[in-house]
Amino acid sequence: MVVICEYVWIGGNNNLRSKTRILDIMPQSLSQVTSVKDLNSLLLPHIPNWNYDGSSTAQASGHDSEVIIKPVSIFRDPFRTAGSYLVLCETYTPKGEPLSNNHRPYATQIFDTKLENGDSEPWFGIEQEYFLMHRVRKLPLGFIDLKCPPSPQGQYYCSIGAENAFGRKIANEHMMYCLMAGIKICGINAEVAPGQWEYQIGPSIGIDSGDHLWMSRYILERVAEKHDVSVSLDPKPLEGDWNGSGCHTNYSTKYMRKGDGNGKTGLEYIHEAIAKLGSRHTEHMVVYGAGNEKRMTGEHETASFDTFSWGVANRGTSVRIGNETLQNECGYFEDRRPSSNMNPYLVTAKIYDTTTIWNGLQEPNSVNTLNEGGEDQLVNDTTQNIEKNIDLVINDTMEFVGDVCDF
Ligand code: ADP
Ligand code: MN
Ligand code: MN
Ligand code: MN
Repeated sequence: MVVICEYVWIGGNNNLRSKTRILDIMPQSLSQVTSVKDLNSLLLPHIPNWNYDGSSTAQASGHDSEVIIKPVSIFRDPFRTAGSYLVLCETYTPKGEPLSNNHRPYATQIFDTKLENGDSEPWFGIEQEYFLMHRVRKLPLGFIDLKCPPSPQGQYYCSIGAENAFGRKIANEHMMYCLMAGIKICGINAEVAPGQWEYQIGPSIGIDSGDHLWMSRYILERVAEKHDVSVSLDPKPLEGDWNGSGCHTNYSTKYMRKGDGNGKTGLEYIHEAIAKLGSRHTEHMVVYGAGNEKRMTGEHETASFDTFSWGVANRGTSVRIGNETLQNECGYFEDRRPSSNMNPYLVTAKIYDTTTIWNGLQEPNSVNTLNEGGEDQLVNDTTQNIEKNIDLVINDTMEFVGDVCDF
């Protein structure tokens, strides 16, 4: 029996590419498959590496053009019949080095790190915002032209009705296809700007979060293609008083969700994690998406690009703790900084690294935008213990913004 495999990979400029391969490898055990997890353990070992012409994806020169693609995660293919699969691949040079935009090995290494205190099982829930664009006009659905824009923002978020919600057919079909594929999608909603939508992936553990998000983006492009519509993951496709698109990353570890069982609450772990994120703000912004500074203006439910802030139920901060987490003293928090075009392998691994692997002590020569005046003290005093360091950051330098609740 044959299987039809669509090999999917991240090409140059992070555009997704794919091509089809028919394999005659059906292992007997495949009849036992009931979930995507089973697919990965039973089918993945039978899917061989392949290659493509990297000179056609801006990833290799013409005279040494071969890029090797290595299958790493499998989903059902909702565009084809049963027995068809979407195969997410990593990209390597023929010498076995990851291509410069293959960040999955880095993320895998971070997630494989053994933690001394046993706080592990990082969960991520990613809210992917995007615009559906008219392919020829190059404007979001709902716009005829820029001289005569639709009504100002206010009526579109979670809206219904032909004059409010543009492209629901695509957003909904995307959700159904993701479910059929075995992707952990958990919701969709119309967003603040016309033609702007969001879906959420998760909660997923560790590397799965990036795998599921990348494949959900692939399915979105394919569904939109069917309807002759383009997808824009540009963080700020429209100038003026229109929201940009983010990829809010909700995050928790085992101890944040439950406490450590010895009296330290989840909320205390969350506060420590936020303090650490604050002291590595600049480093994080570097990997949180290209062009994000155009989106993070401090307007349109964003915080400023340069300054770290956090708050409860506040959507104008870098990081938000929800009311429920505050009340329960455990749960998760939301990093609102990543932009719609971010690479989830970089973002999730960086968050896990900073909040749990890094001991919280300032590294020599690190840039600390939070600590004007107090900078030298933090950078030089590497003997400070972690608790002290965190208190210092929380009390002296972090801007706490009270509870304002918009959408
Ligand atoms: P918002 O109120 O910011 O619009 P959403 O409902 O769109 O939030 O998204 C919330 C996300 O948080 C979902 O992706 C969900 O999977 C995720 N999530 C829920 N619980 C947790 C948790 N304990 N750890 C990490 N992520 C979580
Ligand atoms: Mn949301
Ligand atoms: Mn949103
Ligand atoms: Mn959010």
